[in-house]
Amino acid sequence: MKCPECKGKNISKRGKRYNKSQTKQLYLCNNCNIKFVEQNGFERMRYKKENIVRAIHLHNEGLSLFQVKDHLWQHDGVKVSRETIREWCNKYSLFLK
Ligand SMILES: [Zn+2]
Repeated sequence: MKCPECKGKNISKRGKRYNKSQTKQLYLCNNCNIKFVEQNGFERMRYKKENIVRAIHLHNEGLSLFQVKDHLWQHDGVKVSRETIREWCNKYSLFLK
């Protein structure tokens, strides 16, 4: 776990946030004093990790968001919006390198 602001690891747990579908651990950064929720997990996504990984890979290969969306639907039967794919790329592309 790292702070999303300063990327520091000087963080501590600060209770949990609940909503209908999941529980998220809240953290506090001791450097910049901001609170954030854990963001590491593919395991908490609605989609499988392999779908996300493939989508990012295809997009990096040069497929458009629309083509990636179509590919996931044709090959994996997964319906996902272009927005979501874009989010995956933003969120996880660094993480996957
Ligand atoms: Zn910080």
